Amino acid sequence: MDLTSDRQPFAFDNSYARELEGFYVPWQGSKAPKARIALFNAPLAEELGLTLDSSDPHLAEIFAGSDVADGSMPLAQAYAGHQFGGFSPQLGDGRALLLGEILDPSGDRFDIQLKGSGPTPFSRGGDGKAVLGPVLREYLMGEAMAALGVPTTRALAAVTTGEQVPREGLKPGAVLVRVAASHLRVGTFQFFAAQQQWDKLKVLADYAIARHDPALADADNPYLAFLAAVAERQARLVAKWMQVGFIHGVMNTDNMAISGETIDYGPCAFMDAYDPATVFSSIDHMGRYSYGNQPQVARWNLARFAETLVPVIDPDDEERTINLATDVIADFMPLYKKAFHEAMAAKIGMSALEEGDEALIDGFLGCLRGEAIDFTDAFRMLANTLTSDTSPLLTNCEDPEPLADWLGRWRSRLKREKRAPAQVAEAMNQINPLYIPRNHLVDEALMKAEDEADLGPFKDLLSVLDDPFTRRDGLDRYQGPAPSGFGPFVTYCGT
Ligand code: AMP
Ligand code: MG
Repeated sequence: MDLTSDRQPFAFDNSYARELEGFYVPWQGSKAPKARIALFNAPLAEELGLTLDSSDPHLAEIFAGSDVADGSMPLAQAYAGHQFGGFSPQLGDGRALLLGEILDPSGDRFDIQLKGSGPTPFSRGGDGKAVLGPVLREYLMGEAMAALGVPTTRALAAVTTGEQVPREGLKPGAVLVRVAASHLRVGTFQFFAAQQQWDKLKVLADYAIARHDPALADADNPYLAFLAAVAERQARLVAKWMQVGFIHGVMNTDNMAISGETIDYGPCAFMDAYDPATVFSSIDHMGRYSYGNQPQVARWNLARFAETLVPVIDPDDEERTINLATDVIADFMPLYKKAFHEAMAAKIGMSALEEGDEALIDGFLGCLRGEAIDFTDAFRMLANTLTSDTSPLLTNCEDPEPLADWLGRWRSRLKREKRAPAQVAEAMNQINPLYIPRNHLVDEALMKAEDEADLGPFKDLLSVLDDPFTRRDGLDRYQGPAPSGFGPFVTYCGT
């Protein structure tokens, strides 16, 4: 008898399965011909208080969805969603399974979910599978975002299934093991709202409040307060995306988490040269999800979320409820702008946002746009002007005058900081990353992994991105945009 199979790798709780009957289908993964753990996130496992043996073949089977761990009640969640503005009343986990929840050492609850574990009743003709490239992309992006301080779902492991999955040619099949504060989406609420199942919606909202905003259960109107809390989390999240130059790429309502975490990394990418119109995704023809549109899209998605809650906020007075919900949505942009400008002020060396700083920030971004300067490098080069006489920031400009003017205004503002320039520069370098997942490096690492089964470059990149702020010797190639000749970059959904 295989003793390892008696182990209990997880102490699963299953509140979703228990409390939300009718919101999911109990389901199991497909059998993987040869499950193997390709990557295991040991530091995350430790944070979560999990003692897992990544060399245990039984764990590989559990992570592939081939075997069910003791205490797990695997299920596919139902949800709907607006995709590129059009409503799909039924999406759901077409290739994902929630294994259950775990509690970390401080009692916080996390979902453990598989992505790519085989078809479910929500697959709508899809094969339910995922392939190694996109699985590794999500792994890497999530870890990079976490290191940058952006709320995000994270990868606990990536497993290869031993299967060849037809995509453009045959690709190695893989499963991502994902950890999230929850997988409740705007689209989860839309699923029941579209069916006018208000009782269910109330159960869902109560569950979400208990899980994410327990203090609000005692508010005058918990559902309205919950809407405001979700809006505030989203405003902060998108402000964080904007300050690191992240473009999600598919901000459909089914890809927006109630928890305020970044979720469902598909054709996402980091912007190089600063331009609000930047789009990388091959499927975003209209630029709906461009870098600069992200705040407006988040607001639009929240309005869809608000619509689902109106009947539970106050079923007896629809007009008043709509007004209250509209006020919450109207507060979104000011909240977002405040979060954005505070973060940007810090990026240019201010210890607090003062009057006039917003114009100063916008002025800098205008200069970056005019000269197509790399967004990430710009803030490191700016800090550099405080400690060095020459800076590539100015010398690379076609017309240096606007930026030289701006630097003059910036220096006079800095005089009020009452810190030595070197101190300001140091503070800036602690929050402005030097290393981000550059598109050409990500592509190179994924290609090596998928085509040559060589995970070396991927692991190297992952470890560089684990500490994005500290310059280290020998890492020059990880810094800066793609060398010229790389050509325009396009990301594919690559399911
Ligand atoms: P995504 O764009 O990956 O966030 O997925 C949107 C919807 O398509 C969700 O309902 C997914 O479960 C579903 N989906 C994506 N890829 C597949 C696949 N290969 N097989 C089945 N369903 C899928
Ligand atoms: Mg999705």
